[in-house]
Amino acid sequence: MDQVRIGRFIAEERKKKGWTQKQLAEKLNISDKTVSKWECGNGFPEVSLLLPLCDELGITVNDLLSGEVVSWKDYQKKAENNMVEMIQEKEANRKQFRLTLILGAVSLISFITLLIVVCLYTYVIPLPVKIVLIAVACTVFAVGILAVIEGQQKIGYYRCAKCGKTFVPKFWAHICGINFVSKRYLKCPCCGGKSWCRKVMEK
Ligand SMILES: [Zn+2]
Repeated sequence: MDQVRIGRFIAEERKKKGWTQKQLAEKLNISDKTVSKWECGNGFPEVSLLLPLCDELGITVNDLLSGEVVSWKDYQKKAENNMVEMIQEKEANRKQFRLTLILGAVSLISFITLLIVVCLYTYVIPLPVKIVLIAVACTVFAVGILAVIEGQQKIGYYRCAKCGKTFVPKFWAHICGINFVSKRYLKCPCCGGKSWCRKVMEK
């Protein structure tokens, strides 16, 4: 799905109705920031908003996902393409998420291995080599941790335990949130409440 194109399309359809972002947001009971995010291509309406949004704009979900008004002739083909793309995206996300976890584990293991080697053979290995080994170990570790943090933040969503909405936390909010297995203590941007949010792959 081309978020930028879909965002532009939402903006076009909204302007055709003569509404501001705020007016559209009020109709959907959401903030105008959310509408602005969609229109800039930085986010996609969550599933529960798809139908109300399309109703307000007078378009179909198929139009929205295609980023244009689909003619009756192309309707079925586009609908099928959109469905396949959504499934592919979900799968790619899942794979990418698993990959970051593996990367994290590998970097942690190599970090520990290198440290053990340096400690065990501390009298055998000359100092410059030792320094290089420790530097390599730290770099591998840092890269691995960064990959995991980035992956965990960007891939998938967190589901608020209070209102059930899903969201992507900001980088720092994500890092500062206490993490427990697949849950993280975060502030929900929808209801403003803090709760143990569960990591989910789809909205
Ligand atoms: Zn919430």
